[in-house]
Amino acid sequence: MLNTLKNRFEQGCKTNNYPKEKPAVFERYRGKPEINKDASLEIIEMCANACPQDAIDKDLKKIDMGRCLFCGTCERVSNGKFVTFTGDFEISTSQRADLLTDGDLPALAEHSKQHFKKLFGRSLQLRQVSAAGCNSCEADLNVLATPFFDLARFGINFVASPRHSDAIVVTGPVSRNMKTALLQTYEATPDPKAVIAVGSCTISGGPFLGSPEITEGLDTILPVDLFIPGCPPHPLTNLHALLSFFK
Ligand code: SF4
Ligand code: SF4
Repeated sequence: MLNTLKNRFEQGCKTNNYPKEKPAVFERYRGKPEINKDASLEIIEMCANACPQDAIDKDLKKIDMGRCLFCGTCERVSNGKFVTFTGDFEISTSQRADLLTDGDLPALAEHSKQHFKKLFGRSLQLRQVSAAGCNSCEADLNVLATPFFDLARFGINFVASPRHSDAIVVTGPVSRNMKTALLQTYEATPDPKAVIAVGSCTISGGPFLGSPEITEGLDTILPVDLFIPGCPPHPLTNLHALLSFFK
């Protein structure tokens, strides 16, 4: 017993101080893209042609973060002359269209203020549905329960039943086999409820884009309130989205 207490005392508090302080992310992490609008057409075309996701709009000079896998190919082939990825992990939006960006993103709080903060600000229960995800999006949601992130300190928990939840958190490209289960989970969640799309797969189909086996965008079958881009989204991206939107 004494050893356990000594151990706890020596370890100290492991929980990060976000959102009061932004924790440092790994230096190779790719977050919000920054676009150089003055890049030559030749370089922009080179990036667009190299993008495996068709995520670069050459005319608007923007990147669709809902499709982007943050693979870094465009930054590499343009040598940073068109796109550079910053370490900013606060990249979620409440509107699908806002994910098409040159680096400017609207604040999340404004939209949700009228809708959700009053309802779920003190307690938010989430039901996760993996609709054919590869497990990375799911794993990076799972770590939110660890002492470092400690999601429960904000009154946010994952629950086992949609009957007990306020929102569903969907990952994966929504395969044909999972579509019915997902829609039934949505129906089983009591009103008022929110729908959160986590990861490029859920938002647009991700790397499975074009496959007849998937749904190209959760917002084509359900009313999505919150879009969290990434492949997978960093746990801090998830945390920022949940806190900004609901708290
Ligand atoms: S980082 Fe995104 S936009 Fe750039 S090449 Fe990869 S998928 Fe395309
Ligand atoms: S978005 Fe990427 S990490 Fe998430 S389920 Fe799809 S392939 Fe996996």
